Amino acid sequence: MLVIFGFKNSSRNLGLAQAACPHCGNRAAQRVDRNKRAFSVFFIPIIPLGSSFSATCTACGSTTKISGDQADQILSGAY
Ligand SMILES: [Zn+2]
Repeated sequence: MLVIFGFKNSSRNLGLAQAACPHCGNRAAQRVDRNKRAFSVFFIPIIPLGSSFSATCTACGSTTKISGDQADQILSGAY
C-alpha cells in the first residue's frame, strides 16, 4: 500500500495596516500573514505543527517574522 505523507504549509493574509518597518524605517503599509504548518497524509493536514506570523513591508518588500501579539498590535494600529 502506498501512503503519501509530507508537510503542508499554508499562508493566510490577515490584512494591511500602517506600521513602522524595522528594515527600512519607513512608516508604510505592512501586510500581515499567518503561516501554518501541518503534517499531512494524502495531502490532508492531520497534525497541526503550529503557526507563525510575518509582516511584509509594501515600501521595501522585506519580510519580518513577528509574534502573534505583534500581529494583533499592527492590525489594531497600535504598533
Ligand atoms: Zn520596509
